[in-house]
Amino acid sequence: MKLTWNRMTVHPRHRFTTAHWGVDETEVVIVRLEHDGVVGLGEIVPSDLYGQSVAASEAALESMSTLLGDDPFAIDPIVQRLIEHHDDQRAAISGVDAALYDWVGRRLEVPVWKLLGLARPRKQTTFTIGIADLSEIRVKVDEALAAGFDALKVKVGIEHDHETLSIIRDAFDGPLLLDANEAWEPDEAPEKIQALARYRPTMIEQPLKKEDWRHLAALRSLGVAPIFADEACERPADVARLHGYVDGVNIKFTKCGGIREALRMISTARTLGMQVMLGCFVSSSLAIAPPLSVASLVDLADLDGHLLLADDPFTGIEREGGIISLGDTPGLGVAPRD
Ligand SMILES: [Mg+2]
Repeated sequence: MKLTWNRMTVHPRHRFTTAHWGVDETEVVIVRLEHDGVVGLGEIVPSDLYGQSVAASEAALESMSTLLGDDPFAIDPIVQRLIEHHDDQRAAISGVDAALYDWVGRRLEVPVWKLLGLARPRKQTTFTIGIADLSEIRVKVDEALAAGFDALKVKVGIEHDHETLSIIRDAFDGPLLLDANEAWEPDEAPEKIQALARYRPTMIEQPLKKEDWRHLAALRSLGVAPIFADEACERPADVARLHGYVDGVNIKFTKCGGIREALRMISTARTLGMQVMLGCFVSSSLAIAPPLSVASLVDLADLDGHLLLADDPFTGIEREGGIISLGDTPGLGVAPRD
């Protein structure tokens, strides 16, 4: 197996902001796995929230090349080896995991979702409204609704929360997911969350810092909305740890390491009666196709990373209003735009 990679820069349509940071452009790494005349592709979307970077991902790829072996069909043991050696670089692992699944699908001429024995992915995605000044919020919401999105996700945890949410609820009555990105302390969070009840949130994501996860149980009992862990839930074992403390978990491939690990997390969450959401970072369609391939298994999808871009270099994910889907194209179902 020959593994090569290159950096790629993508640009959000609007500056994308959460409680902690803003993004004008995102640098990702495109992974290319070639074997027996077939090429599989994957995308690495590193996040410094998890000790990842483009440079660290590339360094991990150098070493991963020597761990692949000579059988791309053996995805499970390959990914297990990558985790044993590079547990701290799961974004890089997810890029290789995606390239392996893409390779197998292309080689067998079946879509990855079919390879996994799953229903065809056809899922409502939320569209994220980033933190912005109030006039810009109005523009973003109008754009999202005009484009047919019928579920919105909003970043909260800043001083204009109530003005922002009032503007949104004036224009939109559908599912509204709130993401606080660790904004609150345990002693202030109950009051903050109760004050959000009037906006009828579908769920509230990561209201506390990840190390304060034990305090999340008290927020569940407020009964305002299901409480989901995002930053506090990275890997499969985190799902079991969080059982009883949260209603659900947000699985992202950058955190967990790709399809193989996400399937383990979904299975654990389901066994424990927990809800599951799939999330993403700003990225191209190539990074969205892997989580979308397993999206039939989850309750909520926030897979709008490619839809936030001005210049998505990959194509293949269909969208009708708020529904994104994959067809019968072999592999992950996406290809470079040109
Ligand atoms: Mg989040």
